[in-house]
Amino acid sequence: MVSARQRMVSVLGSTGSIGVNTLDVIARHPDRFAVYGLAAHSSVATLLAQCLAFSPRYAVMMDEAAADALRSQLPADSGTEVLQGESGLSRIVTAAEVDTVMAAIVGAAGLPSALAAARAGKTVLLANKESLVMGGHLLMQAVRTSGARLLPIDSEHNAIFQCMPVNPTTAEPSLAGVGKVLLTASGGPFRQWSLARMETATPDQACAHPNWSMGRKISVDSASLMNKGLELIEACWIFDLAPAQVEVVVHPQSIIHSMVQYLDGSVLAQMGNPDMRTPIAYGLGWPERLESGVAPLDLIATARLDFEPPDEGRFPCLRLAREAVDAGGTAMAICNAANEVAVAAFLDERIRFTAIPLIIERTLEKMPILEPTSLAIVEEADTEARRIAAEQLESGLRGERRIGKV
Ligand code: NAD
Ligand code: MG
Repeated sequence: MVSARQRMVSVLGSTGSIGVNTLDVIARHPDRFAVYGLAAHSSVATLLAQCLAFSPRYAVMMDEAAADALRSQLPADSGTEVLQGESGLSRIVTAAEVDTVMAAIVGAAGLPSALAAARAGKTVLLANKESLVMGGHLLMQAVRTSGARLLPIDSEHNAIFQCMPVNPTTAEPSLAGVGKVLLTASGGPFRQWSLARMETATPDQACAHPNWSMGRKISVDSASLMNKGLELIEACWIFDLAPAQVEVVVHPQSIIHSMVQYLDGSVLAQMGNPDMRTPIAYGLGWPERLESGVAPLDLIATARLDFEPPDEGRFPCLRLAREAVDAGGTAMAICNAANEVAVAAFLDERIRFTAIPLIIERTLEKMPILEPTSLAIVEEADTEARRIAAEQLESGLRGERRIGKV
């Protein structure tokens, strides 16, 4: 039964790290939330278990065989209808009954659904940072024109959101009195590794994040600091900041999730244990606070908070992202697409970890930068960047010592 106070939520990418954490928070508040739709790529067993636990109206699998398998395994009286592909995704995003959409698909694949949620005026809980990096202009424009509400779930942006002043008339974050944003980074698993050692890094080493448990793509991005580069771009779009107003600060303990520095000298920080259920609960409950299952922060046990500058010599991905945001237009979509291709190749053990920035840099060099005035232009840049990045994998890079095959 849907009670009057319950909010209807669709979770896109429900079988992933963010999706599972989102359902964990939702399960703690059955009086407040009901699940309308769940969507995933192809993990039948996990989506089946989620359907049985949350009885969504719809379950969407992008993969056709997986959709058939799920359909055949769901009990006839489950009350859940299985849909397949983009049209199914669109249904659970835009349905009139849906209040809130958790956009937690990984990568560029998440842009069309995040954009559809924004255009439909939903409350969009945005975890999928790649959609903003790729199509920030379109997404923010859609939010403004439809009256959608975008609540950032990425822990840093959620922290900034919590520390930003609020315009009393619009209830939107404002930049009044803000000097800059201090975007914190853990530094990832290779913070203290030499470049030479990074050449030998394996996918499992890159995915062994010191503080956070996350999907493999974002874990590699955290190891290369491309994650911080993508987050720099994300912060500029969400908070309407110039790139120079965002300073990256390495903070290995991941207790401070980011800070806002004001013109009067004040610095507001949001702190907490590194557990994504905090920003997820904040997004689900906003403007109220919900119990999230996260252990209270023990500052005495934490003992120290350290800070250091990022090393762009060893982590060139941060510089590449900064150059892409400075170049503007489709440069950010190109940077994102080339990174996705390079990270997938690294995870497949086809290239070394240190080849990732080289593939991105060469792809950026080879492509024109256009005004991202439509989704088609952004998607074309994405497709072309993937093609050029794939060429770099197959040809030029093979012969080079530093970046050759594993
Ligand atoms: P993940 O790999 O654990 O999960 C990805 C989810 O997306 C899965 O449910 C998968 O089935 C689904 N998916 C993949 N390709 C799809 C496609 N083409 N169509 C539909 N669904 C598809 O990833 P994650 O770590 O949960 O990250 C999800 C997003 O959230 C990423 O954009 C990531 O950058 C962002 N994010 C994650 C964290 C974290 O702690 N994991 C923190 C901040 C931001
Ligand atoms: Mg983050």
